[in-house]
Amino acid sequence: MHYFDHSIHFTNGQSAQIPAGKVVCVGLNYRDHISEMNSQAASEPVLFLKPSTALVSLEQPVAIPVAFGACHHEAEMAVLIGEQLSECTEEQADAAIIGVGVALDLTLRELQSQLKQKGHPWEKAKGFDGACPASAFVERARVKDLQDLQVRLTLNGEVRQQSSTSMMITPVPKLLAYISWFFTLMPGDIVLTGTPAGVGPLTPGDQLLVELGDLISVSTTVVAR
Ligand code: ZN
Repeated sequence: MHYFDHSIHFTNGQSAQIPAGKVVCVGLNYRDHISEMNSQAASEPVLFLKPSTALVSLEQPVAIPVAFGACHHEAEMAVLIGEQLSECTEEQADAAIIGVGVALDLTLRELQSQLKQKGHPWEKAKGFDGACPASAFVERARVKDLQDLQVRLTLNGEVRQQSSTSMMITPVPKLLAYISWFFTLMPGDIVLTGTPAGVGPLTPGDQLLVELGDLISVSTTVVAR
């Protein structure tokens, strides 16, 4: 596995002087994805974690497990945290973002359904090794508006996921502030901000293009782990 080698990279080639930490994710943050999952909108953000061992570089081939049923792509905007956030305000949260990237929240969908049915935690379906391929980050200063970026995933030449971050139910500063009342965010932590509709299974050999506006564009291949 190509784990993040304890450093986070920026698209300008610089490395952040902080180790990659945990990944905090939000479920059901785009209405069109809630519909496709036949889920109900939640009254508060649905949070879950991926351990730092789930982080790999999106620039490497995406290695998916093949022994546990379908592995779905969920393309999401990722934000990189640069300051400790604990029980913070939206303003403090906004000021602590130092980078913006794009990541895949890889999900073993069949395993997740089985676990949900039994009322068990989903960690095995979402937190496995390599479950979070992430791009290099663009410095925050280069991003005009976090809530006006296109998240796009193209699979074998066909656009499968495409939405604007303006469609998020809980926008980023509010989401980070909410998270910080449960989990302290540390420098090097990454927050995935939810996926728009169009999730679906990956197959070894698939060609992926994952984009965030005109800021980030990563081409990669899916391989079996
Ligand atoms: Zn997700």
